[in-house]
Amino acid sequence: MTDHPELDSGKPTIARAYDALLGGKDDFAADRALADHAIQHIPGLRESAVENRRVLVRGVRYLARETGMDQFLDLGSGLPTMENTHQVAQRENPDARVVYVDIDPLVSVHGRALLAENGGTRVTVGDVRDPAAVLAAPAVDGFLDFSRPAVVMLVGMLHYLSPDVADGVVAAYRDVLAPGSHLFITSLVDTGLPQQRELARITRENLEEGWARTPAEIEHHFGDFELVEPGVTYTALWRPDTPIDPENLAPGEQLGMAGMARKP
Ligand code: SAM
Repeated sequence: MTDHPELDSGKPTIARAYDALLGGKDDFAADRALADHAIQHIPGLRESAVENRRVLVRGVRYLARETGMDQFLDLGSGLPTMENTHQVAQRENPDARVVYVDIDPLVSVHGRALLAENGGTRVTVGDVRDPAAVLAAPAVDGFLDFSRPAVVMLVGMLHYLSPDVADGVVAAYRDVLAPGSHLFITSLVDTGLPQQRELARITRENLEEGWARTPAEIEHHFGDFELVEPGVTYTALWRPDTPIDPENLAPGEQLGMAGMARKP
């Protein structure tokens, strides 16, 4: 990709390394080197990233189609890729509103282009760990109406929240939501497999944050919300389009879990 003066291309970022994993174009040599290093150590890592995108699509489609959700706050949204939240949601409901929030400045470069073509979508650079600032951002406040049901997404994002801040951060987003709202989480999981902890370690070492959580720890972040079937489960098993044998998961299908819950 071409250089942007405000970006440090020599140091990998989470968003760009993830883009490299997905085979995208918005990454630099340092991001690709990290992605290659991680792929060599973690069997199925690339497939796991693709699987995470797939469950994002299924989750947003379920929310827009089955529950009538029409407002989405996509936290840690990443760089645009094949099927993004606004495309999935607005295919079901052209009036659906989506706000993308990400800490990576490259996301805002893309956001400017996106804004020009889509009135129902906003992009803002922000740190998810500062919920007050995110919720007060002009792209969020006044564009999403939190007196009505809305969706908060922490898809592929929870594992970048360190254990000392995660509880308070996720609770702050849960608290602002109206009854009938939904929280949608996917996360690196720790079910005792060494590659899960190894991925967390590589991520922490190179990208500062990276935490694998047990299924119970992931579930804990839904607070008193009611889990949507099938609960917190490996991403491939979360409402799959075609049946999956839970006894026969590939290595890449055992790195992440997904869950969704509704505020009573
Ligand atoms: N949500 C997308 C998905 O699931 O495909 C992207 C996931 S990507 C693995 C994680 C994203 O979270 C990256 O784009 C990264 O920049 C962003 N991120 C990490 N920590 C963040 C923070 N504290 N605030 C905002 N964004 C953050």
